[in-house]
Amino acid sequence: MASRIQVLAVLEPVNGHLSVAEIHQRLAARLPSDTQPPDLATIYRTVTTLVDQRVLHALTLDGGVTTYGMATAPHHHAVCTQCAAIIEVPARQLSSALEHAMAGSSFALSERAGLTLHGLCPQCQDSAEDLDDATDPRPPKRRDPRQRRR
Ligand SMILES: [Zn+2]
Ligand SMILES: [Zn+2]
Repeated sequence: MASRIQVLAVLEPVNGHLSVAEIHQRLAARLPSDTQPPDLATIYRTVTTLVDQRVLHALTLDGGVTTYGMATAPHHHAVCTQCAAIIEVPARQLSSALEHAMAGSSFALSERAGLTLHGLCPQCQDSAEDLDDATDPRPPKRRDPRQRRR
């Protein structure tokens, strides 16, 4: 199935997750304009097969959108609260701290599922600096963040 290779070629340089719609968009952008990209249903079937084969793993966001990533090493997911971009964070740095934190409970952490962290991706950090804070729902830097929490 050719679309399998195409999907992996789109995901490989991302170092994060993409939804089916984003994979479709990027696929279309990569192809010459006279070439028809696989449709959404085909891409959906392809990623589902790849998840079954453990080539990809799925992560569903709060909004219900399912995204797909291809990292094989244990990792956590950093989700951008502004543009919903998902970056894969290697688990190595956090693992010992987590094991320590979990030592007192009987809860077992899944190596594959990991944590979902929330924050701003590098791109949104840049645009947040450009924007004046009038349209920004997050507390501006110069105000004490403790006053706005919770
Ligand atoms: Zn992932
Ligand atoms: Zn972002």
